[in-house]
Amino acid sequence: MSEIIAKAVDVEVIYGNHAALNKINMQVKKGDIYALVGKNGAGKTTLLRLFTGQNAPDYGHIEMFGKTGAHALNNARKRIGAIIETPAFYPFFSAVQNLEYYRIQRNIEDKSVIERVLKDTGLYEARNKKFKNYSLGMKQRLGIALCLMHDPEFLVLDEPINGLDPAGIVEMRKLMLKLNREKGLTIIISSHILSELANMATCYGFIDNGVILKELTSSELDNIEKNYIKMSTNDNSSVALAIAANVNSSAYVEDDGKYIIIPDIDSSPSEVLSRFVIESGYELYSLEIVKSTLEDYFISLLGGATIE
Ligand code: ADP
Repeated sequence: MSEIIAKAVDVEVIYGNHAALNKINMQVKKGDIYALVGKNGAGKTTLLRLFTGQNAPDYGHIEMFGKTGAHALNNARKRIGAIIETPAFYPFFSAVQNLEYYRIQRNIEDKSVIERVLKDTGLYEARNKKFKNYSLGMKQRLGIALCLMHDPEFLVLDEPINGLDPAGIVEMRKLMLKLNREKGLTIIISSHILSELANMATCYGFIDNGVILKELTSSELDNIEKNYIKMSTNDNSSVALAIAANVNSSAYVEDDGKYIIIPDIDSSPSEVLSRFVIESGYELYSLEIVKSTLEDYFISLLGGATIE
């Protein structure tokens, strides 16, 4: 069984009469990239702050590297690197100068850490550029470089992708995978946009209103994320019934009869369906293969709520 890096056991955090976290039980295993996904205000930051020690639970407890209790947790937390709030960098300092400032402040003797973390985060070429001239993606990566300086085993990252453009998202995804696969780092990363964490996370925890609604591995999520066929004909109800009886039992009409939906695309490809409709004497108006996105799943999980 793989080692548990971080664990929340029956955790509650109460603000006034509001439970920001309500009986949370979850764990991050060694080697995971755990995606914590939920709308703004769902409780993501509050949960991550329990792991970093910036908050303490009102009920329940936290375990880090198998340790619990204030003293042992404090020691275990030396093995964590975290970005909960954006770290403060000097705008007129270069990346090297900013990291050097933190190296001295944190009493890290080995000067070579700066070169190492700049290389690891893909910023080495731009090391002498002033921070103020960095793109948002580069600024975020410099924040990660900073939390890699003491060689942590576990990264806790709160919304590091928020606001990045598509190229920045791709860079961040590559960086997470590199740190995870090549450096063996375990990572928990939060976002309010599920698709940002796609192709990166090994497992997902969906949080809403202080409750983990569901946890899934990435392969479980891949099975949910399936394409479906949406078509329209001159008589949708009859065609849906005919398809259900003869081709694919899961066909049904949707949207007040405007469309026929066939969720199971593998067992009835589009050419089979279109031939069946025409050979049965109906007119086929449209047929499209619709990709069901991660976002659709997220919205369905939250009962139709929109994100943001
Ligand atoms: P997320 O990170 O998912 O956006 P948060 O963990 O920041 O959510 O917040 C969860 C809930 O706790 C929200 O309702 C928020 O308003 C509340 N909350 C967070 N921090 C505080 C605080 N210091 N005082 C009072 N309420 C708070």
